[in-house]
Amino acid sequence: MTTPMQKVLIIGGGFSGMSAAILLQRQGLDVSLLEIDPNWRTDGAGITVSGPSLRAIEQIGILDEFKQHGAIAANVDMFNGNGDFINQIKTPAVPGSSVVGGGGIMRPVLAKILARHTQEVGVNVILGHTFNDIADLGDRVRVSLTNGSQEDYDFVVAADGVFSKVRQTLFPDAPTPQYTGQGVWRAVVPRFGLERPALFFGATGKLGFTPVSADAMYLNYTELRPNKDRIPAEQELEYLRKLLEPFTAPVAEKVKQHLNPQSQILYRPLEGMIMPRNWYKGRVLLIGDAVHATTPHLASGAGMGHEDAVVLADEVAKGGAVTDIFERFQHRRWERCRMIVANSLRLGEIEKSGGPKEEHVQIMALTMTGLLAPI
Ligand SMILES: Cc1cc2nc3c(=O)[nH]c(=O)nc-3n(C[C@H](O)[C@H](O)[C@H](O)COP(=O)(O)OP(=O)(O)OC[C@H]3O[C@@H](n4cnc5c(N)ncnc54)[C@H](O)[C@@H]3O)c2cc1C
Repeated sequence: MTTPMQKVLIIGGGFSGMSAAILLQRQGLDVSLLEIDPNWRTDGAGITVSGPSLRAIEQIGILDEFKQHGAIAANVDMFNGNGDFINQIKTPAVPGSSVVGGGGIMRPVLAKILARHTQEVGVNVILGHTFNDIADLGDRVRVSLTNGSQEDYDFVVAADGVFSKVRQTLFPDAPTPQYTGQGVWRAVVPRFGLERPALFFGATGKLGFTPVSADAMYLNYTELRPNKDRIPAEQELEYLRKLLEPFTAPVAEKVKQHLNPQSQILYRPLEGMIMPRNWYKGRVLLIGDAVHATTPHLASGAGMGHEDAVVLADEVAKGGAVTDIFERFQHRRWERCRMIVANSLRLGEIEKSGGPKEEHVQIMALTMTGLLAPI
C-alpha cells in the first residue's frame, strides 16, 4: 500500500460506483458506498458489452461470472430490414486480455454480480440515503448524509449518473444532459437461434438484437422522436409492435409474434453530455455517466464506467497527492471518453438526418478499433 489515503466515500451504486468500490476496497482502502435507492435496483433491460468493456470486467474480477450468466459472441452482423446481409463488423481480440469478441447480459444480472462482490470485499454499503452537504476541508472532505450521520473522508468519488446531484452541487455551470431526438425501446425475447448480435437498418429506424444468456436476447429499437414525451405504459406493447412492422427479416417476424405483456418493454429517451475538464474539485472526483454520459450507439457507456474504476484504482495504487491522482486519472480518461460521446452523438445525427451510411459504418469500425488501445 503506497497511498496515504485510507477512507473513501463513493456516491452512487451503479456499474461505475460498484466497480470503483470493489477495486479500491480490494487495494486496502476503507470504502463506503452511498446509494439513494433503498432497493439498489437497476432497470430490467439487457446491455451490450464490447470486447474492451469485457477487458475492464476481467480486471474487476468478474469475467467468469459474466460468461456464466451472460453471453459472449464475436462480431456483429448487419442487415437491411428484410434480412438481406450487408456487412459484418469485426470485434477483434482485445490485446492484453483473454477476451474475444463482445457480449451481452441482463442489467440486473450484472448488477447483482457487482453488488455481491461489493459486499464480499467488505465495502460499507449505505442504502436509501444521499448526501446533504459536501465540505472540502483541504486535507479531507466532510460529508453529511440524509441519515443524520457525518463523516470525514480522504476523498470522495461521485458516480451518481447522468443527472448527478454532486455535479450540480459542485459544478453549477457544467453543461446539462441534452435530449438527442432519439429514444430506445428495449424488450427481452427468446434468441430464436441467433448466434451473435445483429443490427437491422430499416427505412424508419434501427433494430438490434443482442444475446444476453444461453436462451434469451434483448431487442433494442432506436426511434426518431422529436419530443421527450413518453407513451403511456398500457400502450407500449402495441406501439412497439407498430414500430417493428416494417422489419420482415425472419428473426424479426418471430420476435414480433412473440412480443407479449411479459416481454419487459422499456423506453428511454437518449441524453448525452461530456463535462469539460476538470472532472474534480478539491478532493471530490466525478466518474461514469456523471461526467461522460453517452448514447448507446457504440454500446460503451457502462464500459467507460468500468474502465474509469480500473484506471482510478491503478492511479490510487501509484500514490501521491489526491490532486495528482485525480489529474493523472483525468489525463488517461479524457480523450477516450470524449471520443465515445462525440462519435455516439454523430451516429445519432446521421441516423436522424438520413446522412451518409458510409460515414456511419466508418465511425463504428474506427471506434471499435480505437477502443482496443490500452486504457
Ligand atoms: C437506452 C440506453 C441503453 C444503453 N445501452 C448500453 C449498452 O448496451 N452498453 C453500454 O455499455 N452502455 C449502455 N448504456 C449506457 C449505460 O447504461 C450507462 O453508461 C451506465 O449505466 C452508467 O453507469 P453509472 O454507474 O455511471 O451511472 P448509473 O447507472 O446512472 O448509476 C448511478 C447510480 O447512482 C445512484 N444515485 C443517483 N443519484 C444519487 C444520489 N444523489 N445519491 C446517491 N446515489 C445516487 C443511482 O440510483 C444509481 O444507482 C445505455 C444507456 C441507455 C440510456
